[in-house]
Amino acid sequence: MTNNAAVDAPFMEVNAELCKGCQLCVGVCPKSVIAISDDLNSASYHPAYYTGADCTGCGLCFYACPEPGAIKVVKP
Ligand code: SF4
Ligand code: SF4
Repeated sequence: MTNNAAVDAPFMEVNAELCKGCQLCVGVCPKSVIAISDDLNSASYHPAYYTGADCTGCGLCFYACPEPGAIKVVKP
């Protein structure tokens, strides 16, 4: 979780190379704004990504993710 006065809406970001495609973040997001990519990362996992709108910055995805550094949530 990060506070950043330079952004005007909360968002989440996935580091595709650190993601293992477990989908835990997809399941916990109350806004259903995380999806799994059709693409593969270099470890052959399908990484999660933010679909681009309506994140509330609640942080549930961040706390659910077992991979350190894979998810960043930024709040204004
Ligand atoms: S911070 Fe909350 S609303 Fe935003 S993507 Fe994560 S779980 Fe969904
Ligand atoms: S919880 Fe973490 S490792 Fe699992 S799909 Fe989401 S970002 Fe990837």
